[in-house]
Amino acid sequence: MKGQRVAVLGGAGFLGSHLCERLLEDGAARVVSVDNCLTGSERNVAHLRARAGFESLRQDITEGLSVEGPLDYVFNLASPASPIDYAKLPLETMRVGSVGTENGLKLAEVKGAVFLQASTSEIYGDPLVHPQREDYWGNVNSIGPRACYDEAKRYSEALTMVYARSRGVKTRIVRIFNTYGPRMRLNDGRVVPAFVGQALRGEDFTVFGDGTQTRSFCYVKDLIDGLVRLALSDVIEPVNIGNPREMTMREFAEAVRKAAGGGGKIVHLPLPKDDPKQRQPDITRAREWLGWEPRVSLEEGLRETISWFRKVAGQGSGS
Ligand code: NAD
Ligand code: UDP
Repeated sequence: MKGQRVAVLGGAGFLGSHLCERLLEDGAARVVSVDNCLTGSERNVAHLRARAGFESLRQDITEGLSVEGPLDYVFNLASPASPIDYAKLPLETMRVGSVGTENGLKLAEVKGAVFLQASTSEIYGDPLVHPQREDYWGNVNSIGPRACYDEAKRYSEALTMVYARSRGVKTRIVRIFNTYGPRMRLNDGRVVPAFVGQALRGEDFTVFGDGTQTRSFCYVKDLIDGLVRLALSDVIEPVNIGNPREMTMREFAEAVRKAAGGGGKIVHLPLPKDDPKQRQPDITRAREWLGWEPRVSLEEGLRETISWFRKVAGQGSGS
């Protein structure tokens, strides 16, 4: 990414802020974060403000998107991403996935830039094929409580392919599987901050349902490396980026307890409607086409994440 000019839509979010940081480390000439701070925060990029080439714009990308000057890449990471966030913000989620994505595609078209859309493993819904390969079309409830997110992301993939096929925009689609690390919000409701917060406070672990549902957790540094590799490739088809190490939520609670050295017993709460029963990426495409695979173990990633949450708890923020 040396010398490249990049816009990161959703740059003040968890993943977006790590991407901005990585691009600057790689020597990008210009990194513009565009964000309305709906679920992100300026705090996430405050440490980048003094870095040469970094700009931060406060814009709602559904209302219009304006970035002056040339761009080589547009990464679209803007969208509420945790089930609690998109349940609270269903219309905002549908609009940013549809109108916001189209504004991002138009920006890339005008600038002649490569457009990378952040999609999600959620487009596979409650998958009947396991592990999930990119040629699986998914099993999504189009009228359920998660539909505002899942269907907006499915639409954003379709729209991205239309702009590639009919307008000649150079596009990439990444299907991101559960990713964790520093700068997640302690109260965003996702299982990693939930369990880490509970472990640090010595509270019980709130496992939803019987805890046999599975997820596969990828450390943020690995994920960002996959995004950069995909952007630099010429792959138009969707690519899964995630860590194939799969575990049940009961096993995950125990892993957090061990890494944090604390936490109470496991208590069971009702399973949210349409919660996928299993999820594991097939990463053959990423391995073969991008030369990518995750390098950070769950133990190492949890250590980094826990130490960050300890630090922000000590500073009285992180929520
Ligand atoms: P996040 O909520 O931390 O970041 C999203 C950012 O988008 C926030 O800063 C938010 O303020 C911004 N945003 C939302 N609506 C906007 C709008 N209308 N205009 C401008 N900015 C807007 O979430 P995240 O975990 O960093 O996720 C980033 C992207 O990756 C999302 O598109 C999400 O769907 C995708 N993703 C993430 C995961 C994961 O595990 N973190 C998994 C799958 C997909
Ligand atoms: N989960 C849980 N306890 C919590 C929060 C989540 O058991 O306090 C479960 C949730 O039901 C799901 C898994 O953990 O099965 C992952 O949830 P998350 O919200 O992190 O992501 P997603 O469902 O989008 O994969």
